[in-house]
Amino acid sequence: MSIPTLTLNDGNTIPQLGYGVFKVPPADTERAVSEALEIGYRHIDTAAIYGNEEGVGAAIAASGIARDELYVTTKLWNDRHDGDEPNRAIEESLTKLRLDFVDLYLVHWPTPAKDNYVHAWQKVVEIRDAGLTRSAGVSNFLVAHLERSVAEVGVVPAVNQIELHPRYQQRGIAEWAVQHDVKIEAWGPLGQGKYDLQDFAAIGDAATAHGKSAAQVVLRWHLQEGRIVFPKSVRTERLRENLDVFDFTLSDAEVAAITALDEGAAGRVASHPDDVN
Ligand code: NAD
Repeated sequence: MSIPTLTLNDGNTIPQLGYGVFKVPPADTERAVSEALEIGYRHIDTAAIYGNEEGVGAAIAASGIARDELYVTTKLWNDRHDGDEPNRAIEESLTKLRLDFVDLYLVHWPTPAKDNYVHAWQKVVEIRDAGLTRSAGVSNFLVAHLERSVAEVGVVPAVNQIELHPRYQQRGIAEWAVQHDVKIEAWGPLGQGKYDLQDFAAIGDAATAHGKSAAQVVLRWHLQEGRIVFPKSVRTERLRENLDVFDFTLSDAEVAAITALDEGAAGRVASHPDDVN
């Protein structure tokens, strides 16, 4: 089974499907990531704030998989945007991950009340230029944050990692991303399990038609829409299920029916970027 890749605006490629480890308990992370790598995942999405970079690093080291076959993302936490803190933060993350560089380093949240995201973005670009990450990106940036960051730093992020699932599709940010060749990474791609995907006929009907689960249909929808996803689970059968989405294709009508489930702001299930500082 081969996982498709996308080419980012800096020329680097990224596996379109990976494994996200938000809320994977630190003590269980090495086991879970080892299992994911065994099953065939090659892209791991973690963050300093998840507290489980050591487990990710231990699993990678034990796997024996060549570095250039792995894709690792981590993120700069909100209290480390100022001064040279980002330089210290990436060094700490690399030590925990036992890596010389990550593939993607993200400003985790814009923390707009502190008005320091432009500086944080500048620092992440410098970290990229120093070779400690291959690509530089942002997360949870609204269009205003993106516009200002690009205008003041002069570099367009490779990705913007945002909450995005059938009920909450962030159309404005997604359109900006297309216009600026920024890839969208959808976090909470399954709505974080906070609503029942199969309750929606557009999802349930496609699942029945293709002999797939509701989660697989939603992941397939993301992939066909050109987004990068890394669903989270600590259960072996779900890790397998979430990777088993490359042997069917949704029709244009099925994709459109899921896209029509967007509820705008009412569909959000997690924090709004303005409220995280
Ligand atoms: P998700 O949408 O991946 O939901 C995970 C939950 O969905 C699981 O806990 C489980 O309850 C359920 N689930 C998983 N597979 C399933 C299946 N096959 N069938 C039925 N239910 C299933 O949400 P998430 O973990 O929040 O997002 C994925 C990743 O995105 C995270 O692990 C993390 O790496 C990243 N993330 C980033 C941010 C950010 O601010 N940048 C925020 C949240 C998450």
